[in-house]
Formats: sequence, C-alpha cells, structure tokens
Amino acid sequence: MKQINPNLSNEQKAILFNKATEAPFSGKFLSVNDAGEYICANCGSVLFDSNDKFDSGCGWPSFDRALKDRVAYHEDTTHNTIRTEVSCAECGGHLGHVFPDGPKETTGQRYCINSLSLDFKKH
Ligand SMILES: [Zn+2]
Repeated sequence: MKQINPNLSNEQKAILFNKATEAPFSGKFLSVNDAGEYICANCGSVLFDSNDKFDSGCGWPSFDRALKDRVAYHEDTTHNTIRTEVSCAECGGHLGHVFPDGPKETTGQRYCINSLSLDFKKH
C-alpha cells in the first residue's frame, strides 16, 4: 500500500495505512447531506454515492452500499470478534467495516466508514 496523496495528515495515515479508527462523532462528513460522491482520501477513487448515505446514529458516516467493485472486503478478527473490513480496491487504504444491521428496506448493510479516509466531491 503506498501513499499517493502527499497531503495526508498523520491521523489520515494512521487510519488508511494502519487501520486506526477515528473517534466517534468526530468526523467531518458525519452530518454532511449534500449531493455528491465520496472518494478515497489517498487515491481519489470514487467509493460511495451520497444517495446511499444514511444516519445510523453510530458516530461514523454510514452508507447502505458501496459503488460496485470500488471496495475490497477482508475478514478482520481483531478485538475478539469477526468483522468485515472494507478497504479501497484501488490503493488498499483502510476505510472502515461493514455490518449486517443496515436499513432493511434497502440492502440491510451498514458501511461504517471513517471520515478521514474520505474526501467529498459535490455534484
Ligand atoms: Zn484509494
């Protein structure tokens, strides 16, 4: 995994490259509801659409789906539990995790994503 964006902060690097997690309710995209697309903070690949963002109350930006083939999934067995890690399919940067407790009326999935892993492009 390599750093592509030279302007990443140390916090962003800790998340993208060392799988850290930002503090809940700290992220700058948590309550953004503008129309646009969320891109990887490292490589700029488009990952999520604002139409798929929802307020899960969990403290991190949440989406009920990722754009097709833009993210990769890995089993994560840290913290004595089995979770599914989500990373950028393009650069491998860590984004967050996906849980099966999302909105039942759509996909039933909750992609719980660090704001610091993302950048936003308004439509
Ligand atoms: Zn990326």
